[in-house]
Amino acid sequence: MLSLRNLVKVYPGPVTALRGVDLDVPKGMFGLLGPNGAGKSTLMKILSGLLEPTSGEVTLDGLDLVRHPEALRPHLGYLPQEFGFYPYLSGQDMLRYLLELKGVTAPQGLKALCAQLLERVNLTFAAKRKVKEYSGGMRQRLGIAQALAGDPKLLIVDEPTAGLDPEERQRFYRLLAEMAHERTVLLSTHIVEDVAMLCPRFAVIRHGRVMAITSPSEAKAALHDTLFEGTVPPAGMAAFQQAHRVTQAVLFEGKNRVRIHAAPGTPVPPGFERTPPTLEDAYLLLMKDAPEPPASTAPTPSTPAVGT
Ligand code: ADP
Repeated sequence: MLSLRNLVKVYPGPVTALRGVDLDVPKGMFGLLGPNGAGKSTLMKILSGLLEPTSGEVTLDGLDLVRHPEALRPHLGYLPQEFGFYPYLSGQDMLRYLLELKGVTAPQGLKALCAQLLERVNLTFAAKRKVKEYSGGMRQRLGIAQALAGDPKLLIVDEPTAGLDPEERQRFYRLLAEMAHERTVLLSTHIVEDVAMLCPRFAVIRHGRVMAITSPSEAKAALHDTLFEGTVPPAGMAAFQQAHRVTQAVLFEGKNRVRIHAAPGTPVPPGFERTPPTLEDAYLLLMKDAPEPPASTAPTPSTPAVGT
């Protein structure tokens, strides 16, 4: 179990990126869903030992990750948002180089380990191809291969599907789901579909705070019978948005198809029909209801600052 307690991160500025995050992440896949700027990467960097928190605790199976990052490093695999590859190296040479940088040793030798890891992420066929010829999905799979070295208990994956086409995304989902059979996989994303496809549980984060910890089915069930869909002419859209809780509005055949949340007992506009809620509706409503952060981004006086 990965546990975070009152995790705070204040960057110089000051910019408060995390405002006291409490989270327990069990084995399996767990999502961290939030818009850009929510604090997801900051959290992932702290967990992977690249950044020190200003205050708070992080433990993995009882081991203190903030005080003893070196003890945990062998149990951690990290796929950052921006992964630096050398385009002219082959996939297998790139992987070997990354493993050497990480200080990975293998009783059977690094060559054999690389071959095993490439097999694991279905890249054996492209082992000798230059990385510059890899598609976005293949690069992400190579990134996962390096993160898997040492068979980590915790795999941290930061926004891995941004930029992948739908087919690559599906393939990458399958790989991640497979990885989560044996370990904790923490997946950070701003894409609701990632969570809907993969995560039995997830936390919604905004302005450095956890807004909700739920599952896709719980989040949808909470909106049961309260979602309606209908058409609104473009000229009336602004006034409609003032009067109703709009979750989504998309153009369809030149007209606004609009989804609204209407609590039981609230009037529903004429022509609107009940529709099953989606995870996107639940997420967008949570974002609408999220309180704005305090005007000052400085830490509160009760928050002890112990460096940045
Ligand atoms: P996300 O990954 O959810 O997009 P980030 O963790 O990258 O969010 O950013 C959270 C907040 O912290 C944002 O307001 C961002 O501008 C700020 N931030 C991130 N990195 C730094 C930094 N190195 N220095 C100052 N502010 C930062």
